[in-house]
Amino acid sequence: MKTPAIFVAHGAPPLLDDARWMSELNAWARALPAPRAVLMLSAHWEERPITLGATTTMPLVYDFYGFPARYYEQRYPAPGAPELAKRIHETLEPVERVVDEPARGLDHGAYVPLVAMYPKADVPTLQVSLPSMDPTELFSLGQRLAPLRDEGVLILGSGNIIHNLHSYAWGKHEVEPFAWAVRFETLAKEFLIKRNDQPLVNYEALGRDAVLSAPTPDHYLPLLYVLGSGKADDEVTFPVEGFDGG
Ligand code: ZN
Repeated sequence: MKTPAIFVAHGAPPLLDDARWMSELNAWARALPAPRAVLMLSAHWEERPITLGATTTMPLVYDFYGFPARYYEQRYPAPGAPELAKRIHETLEPVERVVDEPARGLDHGAYVPLVAMYPKADVPTLQVSLPSMDPTELFSLGQRLAPLRDEGVLILGSGNIIHNLHSYAWGKHEVEPFAWAVRFETLAKEFLIKRNDQPLVNYEALGRDAVLSAPTPDHYLPLLYVLGSGKADDEVTFPVEGFDGG
């Protein structure tokens, strides 16, 4: 059976204190078929050529600054996924070089959602780097990795469809979302439901709302990795939705 491919929005580690978000993600994960392994691509690890993180349990990467000490004490000792790493070498290397970085643990874009989804840290997890800022390349990376979904691998992209730290209402979680953000989310959702992928790949051509929603590509691109791994008969669903800080 084909394993779903999913995109999750993440935030800074204090999101782990948001009981509603935690329970929504947890309920979602419990409703999914149990994956054999997670293949995580987060907005927070840019490295070329494509690089595979640790395949043994390594300490987390606390790639955030100025938060209370307890956020630097979080643990998430998920098992490594060496067999999956081998499959990725086999799958991608005919076309491009794949390198290993055995000491690189999960960053906050990767582990914050996983703590909510698989709190027992019992699913073998491999993080893959974001190898390019080119939307087409991310989409085609997803396409090449799509066959892994038939092997029980959960393709998981972690970023945000809308991520504008300049406009973000710091400390004000419940503010009314910006009109441009709502418009872009609505548009993206329409394309996703219709499985009309190309406008989402060429999102920079979608105008000002897109530019404001993804002023830098890093958090948007994990969506394209997931989208690329999609198949024609996939049903698209939106189990967790919402805005934070506008
Ligand atoms: Zn982030």
